[in-house]
Amino acid sequence: MSTNGNVMNEWKLREQMCEIGRRIYAKGFAAANDGNISYRLSEDRVLCTPTRVSKGFMKPDDLCIIDLEGKQISGKRKRSSEMLLHLTYMKARPDIRSVVHCHPPHATAFAVAKEPIPKCVLPEIEVFLGEVAISPYETPGGQKFADTILPYAKDTDTILLANHGTITSGIDLEDAYFKTEIIDAYCRILLLAKQLGRVNYYSDEKAAELLRLKPGLGIPDPRLGLGLENCDLCGNSLFREGYGDFSPEPRVFIHPKLLNQATQSGESNACSCHSHDAPAAVAAPKAQAQPSSNGNGGVSSPDVDALVRSITEQVMSALSGTGK
Ligand SMILES: [Zn+2]
Repeated sequence: MSTNGNVMNEWKLREQMCEIGRRIYAKGFAAANDGNISYRLSEDRVLCTPTRVSKGFMKPDDLCIIDLEGKQISGKRKRSSEMLLHLTYMKARPDIRSVVHCHPPHATAFAVAKEPIPKCVLPEIEVFLGEVAISPYETPGGQKFADTILPYAKDTDTILLANHGTITSGIDLEDAYFKTEIIDAYCRILLLAKQLGRVNYYSDEKAAELLRLKPGLGIPDPRLGLGLENCDLCGNSLFREGYGDFSPEPRVFIHPKLLNQATQSGESNACSCHSHDAPAAVAAPKAQAQPSSNGNGGVSSPDVDALVRSITEQVMSALSGTGK
């Protein structure tokens, strides 16, 4: 491409970054000057948003260019202080070009509560987001903060930053931004469903069906490499174990299987997917919530009796002083 072509291309990207900024602001995902956006122009050049400018009112020449270490190369304004977070994501993931960080209220509520994002509730989430991680809290701004996402960055494009907000990544600006929109809409629906008093889940088999659609759509998912047969896709998480001390446990959106595990065996398994070449026969999943008798067809819902029973047992054991 000619130099002129590159310049034109960069100008279009600047306009697109301002447009994404307007959407972030209009959706209420970033109050005042919150939030930041980045796009990898080349191996060592990143276009990014400036500090102390509202994302809803940026102009193309407000944007900055930095190198992969965060050093400012050009731009009349100073780069955002959160760029180390973006650059850390990009370095961990050569396949991504764009990163969006902001504070969308519904998803940030989950980040504040450190409530893991439940699965097997909405099919689009399984396909377009996959697993969502929560990274531990750290004071924003420095490399220590940026490094909090490292254990999760390779396995997901969507991370909740505990007590802070969200970070999403993608192959272009819109792809990265859409994941922010999707996670916030999902969290909003979860909170609304919870207010109605009941959250139903579809089965592991249905979740596996959704995962199998992803290669055809060009969307990678680390769980596909684990084999999907007999896999506890709904009750467990890639991020539940193995990332050190910080392991957020569900308090509000508890899959019935986890309740059963907690009360029956006192332990929970990591993802039980095993071989890469899964056998053709599909065995019945263990400890699966029974299909409901409420005429919902293939949609499993929690066994309400079992739920009530296990909660009652937990309360009783806590009252009698034997609880954990
Ligand atoms: Zn922030």
